[in-house]
Amino acid sequence: MKRIYNFSAGPSMLPLPVLEKAQRELVNYRDSGMSVMELSHRSALFTEIIQEAEQLLRELMGIPENYKVLFVQGGASQQFSAVPLNLFGTNGKADYVNTGSWSKKAIKEAEKYGDIRVIASSEDANFTYIPEVEGSMIDREADYVHITTNNTIEGTAFSRIPDTGNVPLVADMSSNILSEEIDVSQFGVIYAGAQKNIGPAGLTVVIVREDLIGIAQETCPVMLNYKTHSDKGSLYNTPPTYAIYMAKLVFEWLKELGGVKEMEKINREKAQMLYDYMEESELFSSPVKKDSRSLMNIPFVSASDDLNAAFVDEAKEAGLETLKGHRSVGGMRASIYNAMPIDGVLSLVAFMKKFESKHK
Ligand code: PMP
Repeated sequence: MKRIYNFSAGPSMLPLPVLEKAQRELVNYRDSGMSVMELSHRSALFTEIIQEAEQLLRELMGIPENYKVLFVQGGASQQFSAVPLNLFGTNGKADYVNTGSWSKKAIKEAEKYGDIRVIASSEDANFTYIPEVEGSMIDREADYVHITTNNTIEGTAFSRIPDTGNVPLVADMSSNILSEEIDVSQFGVIYAGAQKNIGPAGLTVVIVREDLIGIAQETCPVMLNYKTHSDKGSLYNTPPTYAIYMAKLVFEWLKELGGVKEMEKINREKAQMLYDYMEESELFSSPVKKDSRSLMNIPFVSASDDLNAAFVDEAKEAGLETLKGHRSVGGMRASIYNAMPIDGVLSLVAFMKKFESKHK
């Protein structure tokens, strides 16, 4: 069986044991004579799947009782609209931190619905660092503060979550949810598209503090309203059933491996291997400021665009795929989410070394 190391930013690798289990259960799930894809979302078997998925996620992230977990659709991009529409009930203003392309999109969307202030930005240096966010910068009357904890395209991540006091903190955690331990109680809302650390595309996870549910604007579309999904246990309409099932398998895999704490150790080790090599390399370097580097998405460049292109092509031949950087930044990017095995990163570093010695 041919499996390559896929360094894609998303959809990205899934753990092989998860795919194999899904394969075993594909045609006849638990003797039902049906695939999970064919099960009614109101059936007892699916109810068990969605409840277990929620329970496992609660356990893995230590989600407090006063938070709801919602399984919705529309991607993280839909949350760019859902967040202001749900939370602008009080003052209609919010503070955003601009740390890259995805933050910018979130800001642009929120601007349609209220007063948005950008309180910190790293655009002055091509988003190669995470700006300081101090409590004193925050408008105490803002309905929320929004950050992107990990910037998938630029390869930066917050190493310290800003303290926003009584103003709820909203985080787009699409590309680093479940990769390291976080304290959920620091956040009002956490949202993430599934297609990196959770499962297949089509599912979006929203974790929301109960007091932030039910305060949406009148005009908030029913499908975007957190109350709709919270009241109905994510079963207001047909949820992405198969993606939820796959997420459950990923959560089981992660739990078995030792949970988020253990995963974080492995993730730090994987990222460190790449960053350490780049420190000593005379060909490859990271454009990102040291204290702002992501554990999940690692952009790097060589000496020229031609060499970058040759690297991406030759790496592909060696079974290391999707290493081309995002079109907006160029160069290369290795996305090494939870499902990327250590061996994948070892192979990448070995290949980089070989490439460097050939092109010195
Ligand atoms: N935010 C971040 C940080 C992302 O990485 C992405 C997707 N790569 C998105 C938002 C958009 O997610 P979706 O495609 O699920 O709408």
